[in-house]
Amino acid sequence: MTEQELLEFDRAHLWHPYTSAAAPLACYPVARADGVHLQLLDGRRLIDGMSSWWSAIHGYNHPALNAAMTAQIGRMSHVMFGGLTHEPAVELARLLLGIVPDGLEHVFFSDSGSVAVEVAMKMALQYWHARGCRTRHAFVTVRRGYHGDTWHAMSVSDPDTGMHAIFNQNLPRQYFLPAPRSGFYDSYDATETDEVEAFLRQHHESIAAFILEPIVQGAGGMRFYHPDYLRQVRRLCTEYGILLVADEIATGFGRTGRLFACEHAAVAPDIMCVGKALTGGCLTLAATLCTREVAHTISAAPPGVFMHGPTFMANPLACATALASTRLLLEGGWQGNVARIETILKERLLPLRRAAGVADVRVLGAIGVVEMREPVAMAQIQRRLVDAGVWLRPFGRLIYTMPPYIISPDDLHRLCDGIHAVTAGTAGTADGAA
Ligand SMILES: *Cc1c(COP(=O)(O)O)cnc(C)c1O
Repeated sequence: MTEQELLEFDRAHLWHPYTSAAAPLACYPVARADGVHLQLLDGRRLIDGMSSWWSAIHGYNHPALNAAMTAQIGRMSHVMFGGLTHEPAVELARLLLGIVPDGLEHVFFSDSGSVAVEVAMKMALQYWHARGCRTRHAFVTVRRGYHGDTWHAMSVSDPDTGMHAIFNQNLPRQYFLPAPRSGFYDSYDATETDEVEAFLRQHHESIAAFILEPIVQGAGGMRFYHPDYLRQVRRLCTEYGILLVADEIATGFGRTGRLFACEHAAVAPDIMCVGKALTGGCLTLAATLCTREVAHTISAAPPGVFMHGPTFMANPLACATALASTRLLLEGGWQGNVARIETILKERLLPLRRAAGVADVRVLGAIGVVEMREPVAMAQIQRRLVDAGVWLRPFGRLIYTMPPYIISPDDLHRLCDGIHAVTAGTAGTADGAA
């Protein structure tokens, strides 16, 4: 197949994330990926600023991850998890339980982040069912959040960016509080706590759980909020008997400068979701962790089991890869890498605050965000970035990067050069893609 034929077939028949079948945006065919580089079919090499949506933290084609995958393929790629178990799942669970916030003791492996969120929400509902409480059916969350594209995950994602209006007839109605206002680096505005408390005081008897992304709201707006907000939400959840679900799918594994973003506020959730970087971006795997209290309450009442069990639960190949990736992370000096990325991103991107057309610039850990005043023309900007040898996927008013932790200072500077080039004079018509 020629490149032309490949692209034509793709354009005619393949859905891509959030794209039109009739008028899809341009797609770039990738031949291979090594380290921090994506190599296009036409030979061009791009510096990857996206880590394939937060996941490829060690870069691509990593020998340690490849070795783990190859070794596991030789033993078994998959066996069912019903009635069977295996070393990759057990070793991975043991490693995870040793690094997540205190109190999480049980692990449910699933296929993807959205499913991990569904599982978390089912756990919360089954917990209250097991306790004989018939009123706590609703979830409370904050605006500008993102928790995935499946039904209940979507129901707690931002109603505007998630286009809830389209799905209104089928979506459960959840409670939305305003998005956290105090930024990560601002001083905390304590009236935020008062608002949350007033709401919970009034509605707590109908609320099963509070679900939110700790510290960094990702796909819903790339916002970094104040750790005191999370600390107060934790305190109020405890006070009003509401379970706290921390969605660490984007933030987990060091991205924000802490291994898990909950650590910024020194809080432990009752239920926590991880995914994305869990396998270092090699395979799809997620996990929902919960406390002994949640797990044993669910298990103590009829039906006496947690009602979920995916076909590919705890897939051995994915678990072995996640084990290798997490070990690599813990042994590899990630703090130094993330701190170095943060320093360079701050040095290079913060000055853009003065650029015309730029509304705000934010950097936290290995995440850099340039928020424009107007929506950006994604296809056009992406073409200019690709021509400059850089891979980013702007959305809405945001041009942002979360590069693999292994990116060299030189490559990171080139990435920032690309961002500089496109944020100067970005006026244009938005193409509306997400
Ligand atoms: C990406 C993401 C999800 C959904 O994960 P998928 O693997 O895409 O289903 C859920 N929550 C957060 C915070 C995410 O960033």
